[in-house]
Amino acid sequence: MLVLTLESSCDETSAAIIEDGKKILSNAVASQIPVHARYGGVVPELASRNHIRDIHPVIDQALERAQKTLDDIEGFAVTAGPGLVGSLLVGVETAKGLAFAKDRPCVGLNHLEGHLTTVLLDLDEVGTPEFPYVGLIASGGHSDIYIVHELGDYTLLGRTRDDAAGEAFDKVAKMLGLPYPGGVEIDRLAKTGDPAAIDFPRPMWTRKNLDFSFSGLKTAVLQHLEEHGIPEGQALNDLCASFQEAVVDVLVMKVMTAAHQNDIGRVVLSGGVACNSRLRQAMRAAGDEADVDIFIAPASLCTDNAAMLGAVAEFYLQQLDAPGFTSHGLKARGSMPLGVSKRTKAR
Ligand code: ATP
Ligand code: MG
Ligand code: FE
Repeated sequence: MLVLTLESSCDETSAAIIEDGKKILSNAVASQIPVHARYGGVVPELASRNHIRDIHPVIDQALERAQKTLDDIEGFAVTAGPGLVGSLLVGVETAKGLAFAKDRPCVGLNHLEGHLTTVLLDLDEVGTPEFPYVGLIASGGHSDIYIVHELGDYTLLGRTRDDAAGEAFDKVAKMLGLPYPGGVEIDRLAKTGDPAAIDFPRPMWTRKNLDFSFSGLKTAVLQHLEEHGIPEGQALNDLCASFQEAVVDVLVMKVMTAAHQNDIGRVVLSGGVACNSRLRQAMRAAGDEADVDIFIAPASLCTDNAAMLGAVAEFYLQQLDAPGFTSHGLKARGSMPLGVSKRTKAR
Protein backbone atom coordinates (compact mmCIF):
# COMPACT_ATOMS: atom_id res chain seq x y z
CA MET A 1 0.00 0.00 0.00
CA LEU A 2 1.27 3.50 -0.79
CA VAL A 3 0.86 5.59 2.36
CA LEU A 4 1.39 9.24 3.22
CA THR A 5 2.34 9.73 6.87
CA LEU A 6 2.31 13.02 8.77
CA GLU A 7 4.02 13.98 12.04
CA SER A 8 3.58 17.29 13.91
CA SER A 9 3.57 16.34 17.59
CA CYS A 10 6.23 18.79 18.74
CA ASP A 11 8.50 21.06 16.72
CA GLU A 12 9.14 19.08 13.55
CA THR A 13 6.69 19.20 10.66
CA SER A 14 7.16 16.10 8.56
CA ALA A 15 5.57 14.12 5.72
CA ALA A 16 6.74 10.82 4.27
CA ILE A 17 5.71 8.45 1.51
CA ILE A 18 6.08 4.80 2.47
CA GLU A 19 5.50 1.71 0.37
CA ASP A 20 4.12 -1.46 2.00
CA GLY A 21 5.20 -0.37 5.49
CA LYS A 22 8.79 -1.00 4.52
CA LYS A 23 10.24 1.24 1.88
CA ILE A 24 10.83 4.96 2.52
CA LEU A 25 10.24 6.72 -0.81
CA SER A 26 10.66 10.15 0.79
CA ASN A 27 10.82 11.77 4.22
CA ALA A 28 10.57 15.57 4.28
CA VAL A 29 11.19 17.31 7.61
CA ALA A 30 10.89 21.02 8.42
CA SER A 31 12.56 21.67 11.76
CA GLN A 32 11.58 24.63 13.90
CA ILE A 33 14.84 24.69 15.84
CA PRO A 34 15.70 28.27 14.75
CA VAL A 35 12.21 29.45 15.81
CA HIS A 36 12.50 28.11 19.37
CA ALA A 37 16.28 28.47 19.92
CA ARG A 38 16.01 32.07 21.16
CA TYR A 39 13.58 30.93 23.89
CA GLY A 40 15.72 27.94 24.90
CA GLY A 41 12.83 25.50 24.44
CA VAL A 42 9.69 24.80 22.43
CA VAL A 43 7.01 27.52 22.67
CA PRO A 44 3.75 25.63 21.96
CA GLU A 45 1.86 28.52 20.36
CA LEU A 46 4.72 29.28 17.98
CA ALA A 47 5.03 25.57 17.18
CA SER A 48 1.38 25.33 16.09
CA ARG A 49 1.63 28.42 13.91
CA ASN A 50 4.76 27.15 12.20
CA HIS A 51 3.18 23.74 11.59
CA ILE A 52 0.30 25.50 9.81
CA ARG A 53 2.78 27.40 7.66
CA ASP A 54 4.97 24.39 6.87
CA ILE A 55 2.68 21.40 6.55
CA HIS A 56 1.52 21.79 2.95
CA PRO A 57 4.96 22.69 1.55
CA VAL A 58 6.37 19.65 3.41
CA ILE A 59 3.68 17.37 1.94
CA ASP A 60 4.41 18.75 -1.55
CA GLN A 61 8.09 18.12 -1.00
CA ALA A 62 7.48 14.52 0.11
CA LEU A 63 5.27 13.82 -2.92
CA GLU A 64 7.71 15.44 -5.31
CA ARG A 65 10.72 13.54 -3.97
CA ALA A 66 8.78 10.26 -4.20
CA GLN A 67 7.56 11.26 -7.68
CA LYS A 68 3.97 10.63 -6.65
CA THR A 69 0.80 12.70 -6.57
CA LEU A 70 -1.96 12.74 -3.96
CA ASP A 71 -4.05 10.57 -6.29
CA ASP A 72 -1.49 7.77 -5.93
CA ILE A 73 -1.86 7.68 -2.14
CA GLU A 74 -3.91 4.68 -0.93
CA GLY A 75 -3.96 5.54 2.77
CA PHE A 76 -3.12 8.34 5.18
CA ALA A 77 -1.67 8.11 8.67
CA VAL A 78 -0.91 10.79 11.21
CA THR A 79 0.47 11.13 14.73
CA ALA A 80 -2.61 11.64 16.91
CA GLY A 81 -0.71 11.78 20.23
CA PRO A 82 0.99 12.14 22.62
CA GLY A 83 2.41 15.63 22.20
CA LEU A 84 1.43 19.29 22.15
CA VAL A 85 -2.26 19.36 21.34
CA GLY A 86 -2.10 22.53 19.23
CA SER A 87 0.72 21.00 17.19
CA LEU A 88 -0.93 17.59 16.83
CA LEU A 89 -4.15 19.22 15.64
CA VAL A 90 -2.45 20.61 12.56
CA GLY A 91 -1.29 17.19 11.38
CA VAL A 92 -4.51 15.43 12.31
CA GLU A 93 -6.83 17.90 10.62
CA THR A 94 -4.62 18.08 7.53
CA ALA A 95 -4.53 14.29 7.21
CA LYS A 96 -8.28 14.06 7.66
CA GLY A 97 -8.87 16.81 5.11
CA LEU A 98 -6.70 15.16 2.46
CA ALA A 99 -8.09 11.68 3.13
CA PHE A 100 -11.66 12.98 3.02
CA ALA A 101 -11.01 14.83 -0.24
CA LYS A 102 -9.51 11.71 -1.84
CA ASP A 103 -11.91 9.32 -0.07
CA ARG A 104 -9.08 7.23 1.31
CA PRO A 105 -8.71 5.66 4.78
CA CYS A 106 -6.91 7.60 7.50
CA VAL A 107 -5.55 6.32 10.82
CA GLY A 108 -4.35 8.19 13.90
CA LEU A 109 -1.17 6.76 15.39
CA ASN A 110 0.74 6.86 18.66
CA HIS A 111 4.03 8.77 18.31
CA LEU A 112 5.75 6.36 20.71
CA GLU A 113 4.69 3.38 18.63
CA GLY A 114 6.40 5.09 15.69
CA HIS A 115 9.67 5.55 17.60
CA LEU A 116 9.56 1.92 18.81
CA THR A 117 9.01 0.40 15.36
CA THR A 118 11.14 2.62 13.10
CA VAL A 119 13.65 -0.22 12.75
CA LEU A 120 11.00 -2.40 11.07
CA LEU A 121 11.39 -0.26 7.94
CA ASP A 122 13.95 -1.29 5.33
CA LEU A 123 17.04 0.53 6.56
CA ASP A 124 20.44 -0.07 5.00
CA GLU A 125 22.91 -1.69 7.38
CA VAL A 126 20.58 -1.68 10.40
CA GLY A 127 18.89 -5.05 9.95
CA THR A 128 15.40 -5.96 11.11
CA PRO A 129 14.89 -7.38 14.60
CA GLU A 130 12.68 -10.41 15.04
CA PHE A 131 9.87 -10.24 17.61
CA PRO A 132 9.90 -9.99 20.51
CA TYR A 133 12.44 -7.25 21.14
CA VAL A 134 13.21 -4.85 23.96
CA GLY A 135 12.76 -1.23 22.89
CA LEU A 136 14.06 1.87 24.61
CA ILE A 137 12.50 5.23 23.81
CA ALA A 138 14.86 7.95 25.01
CA SER A 139 13.53 11.28 23.85
CA GLY A 140 12.56 14.79 24.86
CA GLY A 141 9.47 13.61 26.72
CA HIS A 142 10.05 9.92 27.45
CA SER A 143 12.51 7.40 28.84
CA ASP A 144 10.53 4.20 28.48
CA ILE A 145 11.50 0.54 28.19
CA TYR A 146 9.09 -1.76 26.37
CA ILE A 147 8.78 -5.29 25.19
CA VAL A 148 7.58 -5.19 21.60
CA HIS A 149 5.81 -8.55 21.26
CA GLU A 150 4.66 -7.74 17.75
CA LEU A 151 3.17 -4.75 15.96
CA GLY A 152 0.35 -3.39 18.11
CA ASP A 153 1.33 -5.39 21.21
CA TYR A 154 3.59 -3.69 23.74
CA THR A 155 4.34 -4.07 27.44
CA LEU A 156 5.72 -1.09 29.32
CA LEU A 157 8.48 -2.37 31.64
CA GLY A 158 9.80 0.88 33.05
CA ARG A 159 9.81 4.62 32.60
CA THR A 160 11.16 7.81 34.05
CA ARG A 161 9.74 8.99 37.33
CA ASP A 162 10.57 12.62 36.58
CA ASP A 163 12.59 14.13 33.73
CA ALA A 164 13.14 12.30 30.46
CA ALA A 165 16.72 11.67 29.32
CA GLY A 166 16.49 14.24 26.49
CA GLU A 167 14.97 16.76 28.87
CA ALA A 168 17.93 16.28 31.22
CA PHE A 169 20.35 16.86 28.32
CA ASP A 170 18.47 20.02 27.32
CA LYS A 171 18.19 21.41 30.86
CA VAL A 172 21.85 20.77 31.69
CA ALA A 173 22.85 22.38 28.40
CA LYS A 174 20.77 25.42 29.32
CA MET A 175 22.52 25.68 32.71
CA LEU A 176 25.83 25.61 30.87
CA GLY A 177 24.70 28.37 28.52
CA LEU A 178 24.84 26.08 25.49
CA PRO A 179 22.52 26.63 22.51
CA TYR A 180 19.21 24.79 22.12
CA PRO A 181 18.68 21.90 21.55
CA GLY A 182 21.26 20.99 24.12
CA GLY A 183 21.58 17.25 23.56
CA VAL A 184 23.42 17.67 20.29
CA GLU A 185 25.76 20.27 21.76
CA ILE A 186 26.65 18.19 24.84
CA ASP A 187 27.32 15.20 22.57
CA ARG A 188 29.68 17.35 20.46
CA LEU A 189 31.63 18.84 23.39
CA ALA A 190 31.78 15.50 25.24
CA LYS A 191 33.74 13.96 22.35
CA THR A 192 36.91 15.66 23.60
CA GLY A 193 36.04 15.50 27.30
CA ASP A 194 37.03 13.07 30.06
CA PRO A 195 33.96 11.06 31.15
CA ALA A 196 35.69 10.20 34.46
CA ALA A 197 36.48 13.83 35.35
CA ILE A 198 33.46 14.28 37.63
CA ASP A 199 31.75 11.42 39.41
CA PHE A 200 28.07 12.30 38.92
CA PRO A 201 25.44 9.98 40.47
CA ARG A 202 23.90 7.09 38.50
CA PRO A 203 20.25 7.51 39.58
CA MET A 204 18.21 4.35 40.28
CA TRP A 205 21.31 2.20 39.73
CA THR A 206 20.71 -0.11 42.67
CA ARG A 207 16.90 -0.22 42.42
CA LYS A 208 15.58 -3.53 41.22
CA ASN A 209 12.98 -1.99 38.89
CA LEU A 210 13.46 -0.69 35.35
CA ASP A 211 12.47 2.91 36.07
CA PHE A 212 14.66 5.95 35.54
CA SER A 213 15.04 9.25 37.35
CA PHE A 214 17.07 12.07 35.84
CA SER A 215 16.06 15.09 37.88
CA GLY A 216 18.51 14.26 40.71
CA LEU A 217 21.34 14.06 38.21
CA LYS A 218 20.35 17.47 36.88
CA THR A 219 20.44 18.83 40.45
CA ALA A 220 23.88 17.26 40.98
CA VAL A 221 25.13 19.17 37.94
CA LEU A 222 23.54 22.37 39.26
CA GLN A 223 25.23 21.91 42.65
CA HIS A 224 28.54 21.34 40.92
CA LEU A 225 28.09 24.57 38.96
CA GLU A 226 27.16 26.48 42.13
CA GLU A 227 30.35 25.28 43.80
CA HIS A 228 32.76 25.57 40.90
CA GLY A 229 31.15 28.05 38.51
CA ILE A 230 30.36 27.43 34.85
CA PRO A 231 33.43 25.81 33.31
CA GLU A 232 35.04 26.82 30.04
CA GLY A 233 37.28 25.13 27.51
CA GLN A 234 38.50 21.65 28.41
CA ALA A 235 36.74 21.73 31.79
CA LEU A 236 33.42 22.32 30.01
CA ASN A 237 34.06 19.36 27.73
CA ASP A 238 34.95 17.24 30.78
CA LEU A 239 31.72 18.19 32.53
CA CYS A 240 29.66 17.39 29.41
CA ALA A 241 31.39 14.03 29.04
CA SER A 242 30.90 13.19 32.73
CA PHE A 243 27.21 14.10 32.70
CA GLN A 244 26.63 12.24 29.43
CA GLU A 245 28.42 9.17 30.78
CA ALA A 246 26.09 9.08 33.82
CA VAL A 247 23.00 9.17 31.58
CA VAL A 248 24.41 6.60 29.17
CA ASP A 249 25.49 4.23 31.96
CA VAL A 250 21.99 4.13 33.44
CA LEU A 251 20.21 3.78 30.08
CA VAL A 252 22.47 0.94 28.98
CA MET A 253 22.35 -0.88 32.31
CA LYS A 254 18.54 -0.78 32.59
CA VAL A 255 17.85 -1.77 29.00
CA MET A 256 20.32 -4.66 29.16
CA THR A 257 18.73 -5.76 32.45
CA ALA A 258 15.33 -5.72 30.73
CA ALA A 259 16.68 -7.92 27.92
CA HIS A 260 18.30 -10.30 30.38
CA GLN A 261 15.28 -10.57 32.72
CA ASN A 262 12.98 -11.36 29.81
CA ASP A 263 15.47 -13.57 28.02
CA ILE A 264 15.27 -11.48 24.84
CA GLY A 265 18.35 -11.21 22.64
CA ARG A 266 17.37 -8.10 20.69
CA VAL A 267 17.44 -4.47 21.79
CA VAL A 268 16.23 -1.46 19.81
CA LEU A 269 17.13 2.14 20.68
CA SER A 270 14.87 4.97 19.54
CA GLY A 271 13.96 8.60 20.19
CA GLY A 272 16.14 11.68 19.83
CA VAL A 273 18.64 10.63 22.50
CA ALA A 274 19.39 7.52 20.41
CA CYS A 275 21.31 9.98 18.18
CA ASN A 276 23.84 10.34 20.99
CA SER A 277 27.17 9.03 19.75
CA ARG A 278 28.34 7.76 23.15
CA LEU A 279 25.03 5.98 23.82
CA ARG A 280 25.21 4.25 20.44
CA GLN A 281 28.79 3.15 21.08
CA ALA A 282 28.19 2.01 24.69
CA MET A 283 25.03 0.12 23.72
CA ARG A 284 26.86 -1.73 20.95
CA ALA A 285 29.68 -2.64 23.33
CA ALA A 286 27.21 -3.93 25.93
CA GLY A 287 25.42 -5.91 23.23
CA ASP A 288 28.67 -7.54 22.07
CA GLU A 289 29.54 -8.51 25.61
CA ALA A 290 26.13 -10.01 26.42
CA ASP A 291 25.55 -11.49 22.95
CA VAL A 292 22.50 -9.31 22.41
CA ASP A 293 21.83 -7.83 18.96
CA ILE A 294 21.51 -4.05 18.95
CA PHE A 295 19.40 -2.19 16.39
CA ILE A 296 19.59 1.61 16.06
CA ALA A 297 18.12 3.59 13.17
CA PRO A 298 20.21 6.35 11.55
CA ALA A 299 20.07 9.60 13.53
CA SER A 300 17.71 11.31 11.07
CA LEU A 301 15.09 8.64 11.85
CA CYS A 302 15.60 8.78 15.64
CA THR A 303 14.49 12.41 16.05
CA ASP A 304 10.91 13.17 15.07
CA ASN A 305 10.02 12.47 11.45
CA ALA A 306 7.05 11.04 9.54
CA ALA A 307 8.81 8.03 8.01
CA MET A 308 9.07 6.45 11.47
CA LEU A 309 5.32 5.90 11.34
CA GLY A 310 5.54 3.76 8.20
CA ALA A 311 5.43 0.28 9.70
CA VAL A 312 2.56 0.96 12.12
CA ALA A 313 0.67 2.97 9.50
CA GLU A 314 0.57 -0.02 7.15
CA PHE A 315 -0.32 -2.36 10.03
CA TYR A 316 -3.38 -0.35 11.13
CA LEU A 317 -4.51 0.63 7.64
CA GLN A 318 -4.54 -3.04 6.61
CA GLN A 319 -6.96 -3.79 9.45
CA LEU A 320 -9.64 -1.44 8.14
CA ASP A 321 -12.34 -3.10 6.10
CA ALA A 322 -13.54 -0.02 4.21
CA PRO A 323 -11.34 1.37 1.40
CA GLY A 324 -12.74 4.91 1.78
CA PHE A 325 -12.73 7.65 4.41
CA THR A 326 -14.44 6.84 7.72
CA SER A 327 -12.30 8.72 10.23
CA HIS A 328 -14.56 11.70 10.93
CA GLY A 329 -14.09 11.22 14.66
CA LEU A 330 -10.27 11.13 14.68
CA LYS A 331 -8.93 13.55 17.29
CA ALA A 332 -5.59 14.83 18.57
CA ARG A 333 -4.77 13.55 22.06
CA GLY A 334 -2.17 15.24 24.22
CA SER A 335 -1.86 12.14 26.36
CA MET A 336 -1.93 8.68 24.82
CA PRO A 337 -0.47 5.89 26.96
CA LEU A 338 1.06 2.90 25.21
CA GLY A 339 1.38 -0.62 26.52
CA VAL A 340 0.19 0.12 30.03
CA SER A 341 -1.67 -2.91 31.32
CA LYS A 342 -5.23 -2.12 32.36
CA ARG A 343 -4.36 -3.51 35.78
CA THR A 344 -1.43 -1.09 36.19
CA LYS A 345 -2.56 2.25 37.51
CA ALA A 346 -1.38 5.00 35.16
CA ARG A 347 0.52 7.60 37.14
P1 ATP B 1 8.77 12.47 22.63
O1 ATP B 1 9.21 11.56 21.56
O2 ATP B 1 8.98 11.94 24.00
O3 ATP B 1 7.38 12.99 22.40
P2 ATP B 1 10.21 14.55 21.31
O4 ATP B 1 9.46 14.00 20.16
O5 ATP B 1 10.21 16.02 21.57
O6 ATP B 1 9.72 13.78 22.61
P3 ATP B 1 12.55 13.61 20.02
O7 ATP B 1 12.45 14.51 18.85
O8 ATP B 1 12.32 12.17 19.82
O9 ATP B 1 11.70 14.12 21.26
O10 ATP B 1 13.98 13.84 20.68
C1 ATP B 1 14.41 15.13 21.00
C2 ATP B 1 15.39 15.02 22.16
O11 ATP B 1 16.55 14.31 21.73
C3 ATP B 1 15.86 16.37 22.69
O12 ATP B 1 15.76 16.36 24.08
C4 ATP B 1 17.32 16.42 22.24
O13 ATP B 1 18.18 17.14 23.09
C5 ATP B 1 17.70 14.96 22.24
N1 ATP B 1 18.85 14.69 21.39
C6 ATP B 1 18.95 14.84 20.05
N2 ATP B 1 20.20 14.54 19.64
C7 ATP B 1 20.90 14.19 20.75
C8 ATP B 1 22.24 13.77 20.99
N3 ATP B 1 23.12 13.66 19.99
N4 ATP B 1 22.60 13.48 22.26
C9 ATP B 1 21.70 13.57 23.27
N5 ATP B 1 20.44 13.97 23.11
C10 ATP B 1 20.04 14.27 21.86
MG1 MG C 1 11.86 17.92 18.24
FE1 FE D 1 9.61 11.96 19.54
